[in-house]
Amino acid sequence: MSDPADTIHFVASKQVRDTSVKRGDIKEPVRLALWARAAGCCVMCSTVLLGSRTYLHSVLAGELAHNVGATATKGSPRGLAEDITDREAEENLLLLCHACHRLIDDEDHVAYFTPERLRALKKKHEDRVRVAATSGGMRRTAALRVGGLVRGVTAMASQRQTADALLADGYLGLVNSRWQGDFLCRIAGDPSRPSYWRAAQEEIDATLRLVEQSVASGEVEHLSIFAIAPIPLLVYLGSRLDDKTDTRLYQKHRDGDQGWRWDANGSINDFSSKADVKAGTGTEAVLAASLTAEIQQSNLPDALQNLPYFEIRPMANRFGPSLFSHPQTLRNFAGRWRTLLAEVERSCPRATTWHLIAAAPITAAIEMGRAFMRGAQPPTEVYERQNDTYTPVVLVNT
Ligand SMILES: [Zn+2]
Repeated sequence: MSDPADTIHFVASKQVRDTSVKRGDIKEPVRLALWARAAGCCVMCSTVLLGSRTYLHSVLAGELAHNVGATATKGSPRGLAEDITDREAEENLLLLCHACHRLIDDEDHVAYFTPERLRALKKKHEDRVRVAATSGGMRRTAALRVGGLVRGVTAMASQRQTADALLADGYLGLVNSRWQGDFLCRIAGDPSRPSYWRAAQEEIDATLRLVEQSVASGEVEHLSIFAIAPIPLLVYLGSRLDDKTDTRLYQKHRDGDQGWRWDANGSINDFSSKADVKAGTGTEAVLAASLTAEIQQSNLPDALQNLPYFEIRPMANRFGPSLFSHPQTLRNFAGRWRTLLAEVERSCPRATTWHLIAAAPITAAIEMGRAFMRGAQPPTEVYERQNDTYTPVVLVNT
């Protein structure tokens, strides 16, 4: 693990020259940075320098030492080693304990402690501090995995994929405790049968009841959702989520080895909406989400043809499954979608039924469901595309 320079066994026995830096010479921000980056420890031997905590303040036992000496003279350790102008700059100073400071400036050892070696020791220590300080603080989350039937095969995020995506975001998932930290919702059956949709909703409700119990017991404070299911069920799932529990949605990405991880380097997309509201609006309205593909208004069932029509689509007018790869895209979408729902409410105040047709990625479909406000907004029929037509299969927000 450690190289010989990590452990210093020199004995500083020679006469000690006073080379400590005078307090007033170093600017306060420089002093603070040196203490902070070294986490208050000697950058050579890691001795804790904050000392004992007294009633009023901590006693600082550290010393700020020059690397290249304070003056360009022979008597100043390493003073002539390099020609630098600002000798009180942060780069030229080291936080050391008294013993290490004596050691590096000692006549017998000063040649060993070259500026380059001291810089390396300091960097190594500061790097170690940064890793230790930023790699902790992971947050616990409970994973909710929903798997549905996709083209005859039940698809679900694996434990491994789930753990990967969570770790990449700084979350610790799949922690088993008295309550399971891993909730599974298996949706069985065949979407072409009407009974499938009722059974699937019951399965989602049953799973969410278990989640609720865990939240109520205090075991679960954060939920991460990995779902694969037909769009109407994802909207339903969203509409049944408790908005008091901190929840993060994950997206199954189609390309590369991205798996379920969000891509911090992915493109950030935004969305626009348009409304086609005819005079004398009645009791119904159509909401269309053209995200993975463009919804053709002319393909809608006859009953929906002449209703007020509200559509959300990508600003760039590029549709596709990779639209949602950056988490900010999802936040943008959620905001625009809520704004659109408020507009539908205003434009069609007498509406008692909304109809939702969506070509949307998983996370967008869940967000759509989350946005519905029971009471303020009417029940919404969610349509599934079946054999080139759209059929209402799930009713949400009832
Ligand atoms: Zn030391």
